Amino acid sequence: MSSMAPDNITGGLDIEAIRADFPILQQKVHGCRLAYLDNAASSQRPHSVIEAVSHYYEHDHANVHRGVHSLSHRATDAYEGAREKVRKFINASAASEIVFTGGTTESINLVAASLGQDIGPDDEILISHMEHHSNIVPWKLLCERTGATLRVAPINKRGELILEEMLAMLNPRTRIVALAHVSNALGTVNPVSKVIEAAHELDIPVLLDGAQAAPHAAVDVQKLGCEFYAFSGHKMCGPTGIGVLYGRQDVLERLPPWQGGGEMILSVSFEDTVYNKLPYKFEAGTPHIAGAIGLGAAIDYLDSIGMDRIAAYEAQLRDYAGQRLSEIDGLRIIGEAESKVGVHSFVIDGIHPHDLGTVLDHKGVAIRTGHHCAMPVMDFFCVAGTARASLAFYNSAEDIDQLIDALGVATEMFA
Ligand code: PMP
Repeated sequence: MSSMAPDNITGGLDIEAIRADFPILQQKVHGCRLAYLDNAASSQRPHSVIEAVSHYYEHDHANVHRGVHSLSHRATDAYEGAREKVRKFINASAASEIVFTGGTTESINLVAASLGQDIGPDDEILISHMEHHSNIVPWKLLCERTGATLRVAPINKRGELILEEMLAMLNPRTRIVALAHVSNALGTVNPVSKVIEAAHELDIPVLLDGAQAAPHAAVDVQKLGCEFYAFSGHKMCGPTGIGVLYGRQDVLERLPPWQGGGEMILSVSFEDTVYNKLPYKFEAGTPHIAGAIGLGAAIDYLDSIGMDRIAAYEAQLRDYAGQRLSEIDGLRIIGEAESKVGVHSFVIDGIHPHDLGTVLDHKGVAIRTGHHCAMPVMDFFCVAGTARASLAFYNSAEDIDQLIDALGVATEMFA
C-alpha cells in the first residue's frame, strides 16, 4: 500500500467545512482535540438534524394520522415525508415498503416474529458466523420457540464468508437467509448479491442486516433484490431509537403483523380485527415521529454530500489508517477481508483492549473496545475482545494521526 500524505486525503470533499457542521466535534476531551472513531457504534449528528428535531418539537408536534387539526396534519406530512426520503435513499419502489422501527434490532425481531408464525421443527434458518448478536439472538429465540434449526455459515481467517459453504447449506428446508451486508466487528463487505441469487433459485427470502452498510455507500434494494433490508438511524447521522425495515411489498403483504395496537388496524370488534394497509400493519402505536423526521434530515445531509463521494473518501481514509496501524509493533488486525469498509479491529500484544481504550480516551481518541456484540467472531479469532477504530466521512487524516500517536503512548506505557 503506498504512503499517502494526509493533505491528499480529502476525496474531493471539504472535510473542514463538513466537520464544522457537527457541533459535538468542536469540543475537547481531557484537554485534547476530539478524534471520534467510534462510528460503527453510533455516528454524530450535523446541526441540520438537531435543528430539524427541535423545530418539530417547537412548532409541529402532535400525534400523526389521527387529528384533523393543523399540527396533526403538519406532523403527519413531516413523518410521511421522511418515509419518502428513506424510500428514495434505498431506491425502494414504494413508500409502503418502508416500515419505521426502533432500529436494526427491532427490524430483525419484527421479521423473526412475523415469519416465525409459520415456521416449524423441519425448517432451517441460515445466518453466518460474523453476525451481530441482533442477527443471531432473534433467530435463536425463534428456533427455541418452533424447534427449527439455526445453521451458521463459516468464515475464514481473513474474516471473509466462505461463500461456497454458505451456498451449499441452502436447501428446501431453509426458510430465510439472514446475513450482514457489512460486519461491524470485522468491516467485511459480504458478497450479498451472490447469496441472494443462490437463495432465490430455491425461493428462499433474504434479509440483509444493513446497519453498517447504509451509512457508508449507496444502497439500492431493487438492484440487490433482497426481500428485507434493516438499518438504524443513529449510525447514519440520525437520531437514536429510529430505524427502518424495508420489505418487498408482496412479501410484507403475506406476513402477519407482529405487534397489535392502534394504527395497525382498520377496524376492531371483539369478534374480528381488520388490519391496516402497508406499512401501518407493522407500525402499532404512536411512532417515533421526531426520530423519523431527524432521519429524513440526516438523509438530506448525506445526499447533499453524495453517498458515492462518501464511499470513495472513506476508502482512502481506511487505507491510510490501515497503513499507519501496520507501522505499530505488535499490532494485529482482526479482519483482513479483501473487501471491507473503514472498520479496523485490532489487538496489541500484551495490552488489554479496555486498557488501550482508556489510554486513548485520555488523548481525546474515542474508539470501541470489547466484543462488539459479536462474541462468535471473537471466539473464532481466539480473542476476548478487540480495539476497533471505525470511520465516518467527517473523520480526517488528522484523526488517524492522533490515533496512531495515542497508540504510540499506550505501547510505550505498557512496554
Ligand atoms: N447489526 C449490526 C451489524 C450492527 O453493527 C448493529 C449495531 N452495532 C446492529 C445490528 C444493531 O443495531 P441497533 O443497536 O441500532 O439496533
